[in-house]
Amino acid sequence: MSIIKTTITSDCTCEIYDEETDSTMLDEYGDPKRPDYCYGDCYTESVYDFTENLLKPYAEATGWQLDHPIKVEVSSIGWQRRSGYTFTTLEGLVETLQIDGDFRIQFEYDDEEQSLTAIRYSHDEPTGTGTFTIEHYLPCVKCGDPVPPAVYEEELEMCVQCSHDYFDHKDE
Ligand SMILES: [Zn+2]
Ligand SMILES: [Zn+2]
Repeated sequence: MSIIKTTITSDCTCEIYDEETDSTMLDEYGDPKRPDYCYGDCYTESVYDFTENLLKPYAEATGWQLDHPIKVEVSSIGWQRRSGYTFTTLEGLVETLQIDGDFRIQFEYDDEEQSLTAIRYSHDEPTGTGTFTIEHYLPCVKCGDPVPPAVYEEELEMCVQCSHDYFDHKDE
């Protein structure tokens, strides 16, 4: 059993290699020194790492595809602390959770519970959002809309609407 945690942040995490000491250049506080200008490579790299080291093992363990629909739900988001949900895919998860401006997203993957959750911190969410949870759906074979797995099985891989249309022969 293990819990894998990883953070994706809008802050630059680029490191500068110091040839003289053969290590990462540090600032006066002993933290890694950041370049004056960031081209966003560190962000691209952290999303790549997240996909390789967390999303893919998670997808493999759950038998889910990276492009299958997922429902992302949260109890509190934004300065109004509203609840909400949206549909995306595992591979679109980071894009769905990121915002313009400064933010930090903390992901947690519990490989015993097979749960993947996230919390976002930002200017409007200084103490963090509620926990984002993920529910798996399947794409309707007719219209592509997300369908809960139980319905998917029941309605012959269709959403309820398409299934009704199909059996009412409305599509003929
Ligand atoms: Zn950077
Ligand atoms: Zn449908």
